[in-house]
Amino acid sequence: MNSTVPTFTVLTWGCQMNEDDSEQIASLMTRLGYQRVASALEADVVFLNTCSVRAKPEHKAKSKLGELRILKQQNPDLIVAVCGCMAQKEGERIRSYAPFVDLIIGTANIHQIPGLLHRITENRDRISALELPRVEDDEPTVPIRVERTPRLKAFVPIMYGCDNFCAYCVVPFTRGPERSRPMADILAEVERLVGGGCKEVTLLGQNVNNYGQGRREPTDFPTLLYRLNDVPGIERIRFTTSHPKDLSDGLIRAMAELPKVCEHLHLPVQSGSDAVLARMNRRYTSAQYLQRLTKLRDTVPDIAVTTDLLVGFPGETDEDFEATLRLVEEVRFDEAFMFAFSPMSGTAAADMPDQLSDPVRHERLLLLIELQNRITAEINHSQLGMIFEILVEGVSRRDSTKVTGLTRTNKTMNFTGDAGLIGLMVSVRAVKPHIWGFMGEADSGR
Ligand code: SF4
Repeated sequence: MNSTVPTFTVLTWGCQMNEDDSEQIASLMTRLGYQRVASALEADVVFLNTCSVRAKPEHKAKSKLGELRILKQQNPDLIVAVCGCMAQKEGERIRSYAPFVDLIIGTANIHQIPGLLHRITENRDRISALELPRVEDDEPTVPIRVERTPRLKAFVPIMYGCDNFCAYCVVPFTRGPERSRPMADILAEVERLVGGGCKEVTLLGQNVNNYGQGRREPTDFPTLLYRLNDVPGIERIRFTTSHPKDLSDGLIRAMAELPKVCEHLHLPVQSGSDAVLARMNRRYTSAQYLQRLTKLRDTVPDIAVTTDLLVGFPGETDEDFEATLRLVEEVRFDEAFMFAFSPMSGTAAADMPDQLSDPVRHERLLLLIELQNRITAEINHSQLGMIFEILVEGVSRRDSTKVTGLTRTNKTMNFTGDAGLIGLMVSVRAVKPHIWGFMGEADSGR
């Protein structure tokens, strides 16, 4: 150890589930008496929390391992731990190209960190903990949660794993079968968060619409939302991600009826071509997606809808891609996360025939981004002059005379103000649109 108080850092990027895992690791380490530091250079223990959702984060993790190899050569006492989806997927194979790694931790083994670290510091063992839980007949096992640090906004996982096996995705392999947390545990975690000053929660899961499946007590996602809406002190409830095939009328009704549930739905469509959707194993057609969206927009009129789009999937023809462009024109998403397909080892899509070349995939991605950016700009422009409720989250990083927060529709709003506004709800008029949201001014009637 290089100081009297042992130190750790978590190097992380990737999805929100990954972010939540990083927070759990940090909470555990703090409880063990370690102090968090910003850089691996100052740390006694480095956690590399990896993501396998796309090839790029995996490449980044491997290049970080190269940097950690040098650090470990300079300081052999440094403990290097690899966790997250890449750790789960690659397991012991990581040691074939990074033999210096002390600890490989699977996605369901974070709670074992104290015991694993103890073994390493005592014996300098090289250890792996990679068991994924099995779904028991009567009660699924879910990870043990650690007490959170107080914060204004928090992610709260409500379920883990996924049973959908979309052809391009590793999650069912890296996070195991779908398991829902007991509702009482979720409510208790949210109540504790409120006690620490939290006002907004985002419920997390790979397919939150399916919450409750397999639990002994009969329950479902709308029921959870109704119960959370009754928790005093919580002011906003968000959730992600929703699978279109599981967007029920009951959930749409809950979104319309519950004042704390924000008017925003992230509903990944991925493609506008039914042939591609079938090869992706998404289990809906573009017409079914549009039908669900029409019902949603008729019931919750001011809702913002965002999506994920994946272009260049194996076998995607020009006509398939044009169907995606047409769907994007028709739906007019508020925003989209857009990606070019990259084959991930271990997924069905990686071995499919008719893989497209990089130039074709990237040309299609650029065309799609151009279209979606135009639509986002048009939607934001059409909302000029409207007044939005903003939960002020902090001072703008770019301009210290401004504060920043999100609308209920999940758009960024920056406006003149100071740190005294942090944590307050402020009515703000949108005065200048941007692709990322709005510049605004506080409404005098706030
Ligand atoms: S729904 Fe599909 S894309 Fe989402 S986590 Fe499950 S398998 Fe992956």
